[in-house]
Amino acid sequence: MNSPHQPLADRLRPQKIGEFVGQKHLVGRGKIIATLLRQDKIPSLIFWGPPGSGKTTLAKIIASETKSHFEFYSAVEVGVNEIKKVVQESKGRLEETGQRTILCIDEIHRWNKAQQAYLLPHVEDGTIILIGATTENPSFELIGPLLSRSKVLTLDRLDERDIAEIVTRALKDGQKGLGEYKATINKEALKLLLEASNGDARTVLNALEIATNLTKPKQGKRLITLEKITQALGSKKLLYDKTGEEHYNTISAFIKSLRGSDADAAVYWLARMLEAGEDPEFIARRMVILASEDIGNADPKALPLAVAAFDAVRFVGLPEAALNLAHAATYLATTPKSNASYMALKRAKADVKSTLNEPVPLHLRNPVTDLMKGVGYGKGYKYAHEFPGGFVKQQFLPDKLKGRKYYEPKNIGYERYIKEHLEKLHGK
Ligand code: ADP
Repeated sequence: MNSPHQPLADRLRPQKIGEFVGQKHLVGRGKIIATLLRQDKIPSLIFWGPPGSGKTTLAKIIASETKSHFEFYSAVEVGVNEIKKVVQESKGRLEETGQRTILCIDEIHRWNKAQQAYLLPHVEDGTIILIGATTENPSFELIGPLLSRSKVLTLDRLDERDIAEIVTRALKDGQKGLGEYKATINKEALKLLLEASNGDARTVLNALEIATNLTKPKQGKRLITLEKITQALGSKKLLYDKTGEEHYNTISAFIKSLRGSDADAAVYWLARMLEAGEDPEFIARRMVILASEDIGNADPKALPLAVAAFDAVRFVGLPEAALNLAHAATYLATTPKSNASYMALKRAKADVKSTLNEPVPLHLRNPVTDLMKGVGYGKGYKYAHEFPGGFVKQQFLPDKLKGRKYYEPKNIGYERYIKEHLEKLHGK
């Protein structure tokens, strides 16, 4: 059922294979999808292709043409618990009415190994026909047993001709499309829309719908211009693109909020990234880096906590892993900060680059053979534990860099104790 509140892209979703545009290598006559449908034998499938190329649409068409029950979930939003229910219901349906269930999991690569493995026995015994949709290379992102039980089909980016056909259809269709607005689009506007869409039909239809709404009617007709398409393409709905600029802007705002000890802002940016479908492992990985770059020894617990959050994300998966991310983010935002170890590394690296391979001082070398001992390896090395307080002054840097200071602990958090301890050792 279509509702006027449904986005245009949803309303216009092709219902039959004949309405499906492009992807002729799959849906053309005698090609795999047509053959499978004719035989009414649908194996589990993995659709691999860019966003808005028709993966979900094709899954829905297969379900409808095979009179199967269709369930659709996004791996970003559901975990195994929800799927358990679907599996139970599918079993009941199969036993009672013989109707099969196609379970479509969008962004299936977002599930961790355990979540993916949960599906195996149910795919194996035919309780469900799985159609996984993914934008990522399945060989890297999906577990082997799931791959070997499924057929991987690749969808191509829709080309400009395909997209132009979808646009024309959208403007003409009076029932599901924008036909009632009597809108046309001028040449430059269409060109921009085709270029900016990157082959993503959803982006195109969203932008077209927004642009139509932005265009004032003149004598009952609308002419969509370059200006309106530009405005529509920049609108909020379309802003987040996981590989585009907005992705980098948002992660940058998140990291800066953590560094700036603003837990509220950090959680806000976190929620925005998750809402936009950002990869939770990417977010966790960035927190692991920040724990050392910006917190370091001011709170040595920060790094293990961030690593634990990363592990938890892998272990738990979304949606619950969002809790682990929020926990880590609020901790990292509120704990003392120091970049002293990061700065130490930078200074040391600069010295390594600007000097040649400085020889390791003889007294620090290990005298493994008598010959080595003979030339002075290890001679004069002082074993710290033999001295009061387990410490004795001696030279550890190469001769040329003797006395260089790289690590300058700050008076913050745990690093204050480190600083005091070092000052005591060096008799300051
Ligand atoms: P994906 O699952 O690949 O991200 P969808 O199948 O959800 O993309 O497509 C989003 C919308 O774009 C659909 O609702 C439909 O309106 C349109 N669309 C996508 N692919 C096609 C296609 N091949 N033919 C016609 N419309 C398409």
